[in-house]
Amino acid sequence: MKTVHAYAASEAGGKLSPFTYELPKIEADQVDIKVHYCGICHSDLSMVNNDWGMSQYPLVPGHEVIGEVMAIGGAVNNLAVGDLVGVGWNANSCMHCNQCMGGDHHLCTTVEGTIVGRHGGFSDYIRTHWSWAIQLPKGIDLKKAGPLLCGGITVFNPILLAGVKATDRVGVIGIGGLGHMALKFLNKWGCEVIAFSSNPKKKKEILAMGATQVINSTDPKELEGIAGSLDFILNTTNVSLDWNSYLTSLAPKGTLYTVGAVLEPMAIPAFSLIMGEKSVTGSPTGSPAAIRKMLEFCTRHDIYPIVEEFPLSQVNEAMEHLEKGKARFRIVLKVK
Ligand code: NAP
Ligand code: ZN
Repeated sequence: MKTVHAYAASEAGGKLSPFTYELPKIEADQVDIKVHYCGICHSDLSMVNNDWGMSQYPLVPGHEVIGEVMAIGGAVNNLAVGDLVGVGWNANSCMHCNQCMGGDHHLCTTVEGTIVGRHGGFSDYIRTHWSWAIQLPKGIDLKKAGPLLCGGITVFNPILLAGVKATDRVGVIGIGGLGHMALKFLNKWGCEVIAFSSNPKKKKEILAMGATQVINSTDPKELEGIAGSLDFILNTTNVSLDWNSYLTSLAPKGTLYTVGAVLEPMAIPAFSLIMGEKSVTGSPTGSPAAIRKMLEFCTRHDIYPIVEEFPLSQVNEAMEHLEKGKARFRIVLKVK
């Protein structure tokens, strides 16, 4: 038995308080990780608030973990004690369904979210299946790498899945944690990138991340100026925007892609899809192999999120900072 020291919410919308729990004996396919850093994603906030109706309390948030392997089960042969690993949104998948066998472990119908019915990384220790403890490339900046494990892969995978080309003109809606990483990825991919933001105070920083233009995301009039020009738009907000204006700003065959967990149904007029053969789609994080690919791309191009560090003991201040829209651009908790 190992006692884990964490921070948990005991009810929907509750503050996080110190919480301990016991880990039973490690199983053959499991890995125990000492947490060094953990990013804070908007999904942690949504899970604490039970926005999606699937939260279980006490709930320990945290699914952007950077840590060190402390113990491995008898069947684990790809990791060793002392390895540095990252853990994102998922912590376990069945390894035998068609999705797992096909390399789409994140689409496994029994995939286990790191903070869904199990305890996450706002904590000194975390346990996962070996397949979701991703070995980190040598030399990666551990202080900044955590947000890549959820926010990063969530915006990197759409670039792969939608087949975004270097010659494309693309847009990113919402320049928060996910959105600012998307700007950096798409810029290095070679695209011309337009940012849609509701906060004019971010403009200078957004241009410094590689956007060529910043458009007010909440003003359909401003969108009229780019009608018919974008091949791909990635939405990272969870609010209702004028989706039809975004569809109008797509070029023929363009894709509006949401990774933002928009809380209300999205209003999509059929004719806006029919004329111009446009698509609307979405995706959840990515597979372990896609995460590895992304980490390699990040180390090759020196891509990191811009982070603000808080000690784990100030987790409530950090969550409030995110909730108020003040994070620039991703918060990371220092645990050890
Ligand atoms: P975040 O850091 O809070 O960023 C969200 C951004 O949305 C804000 O920075 C803001 O950008 C924009 N925004 C917020 N309120 C708005 C409003 N009322 N009107 C217009 N824009 C607004 O959140 P995040 O961590 O990047 O997460 C973003 C979303 O992705 C969340 O819904 C999260 O749950 C979801 N998510 C999904 C997956 C997945 O697998 N699909 C994975 C991770 C996260 P501006 O200031 O630039 O307007
Ligand atoms: Zn997340």
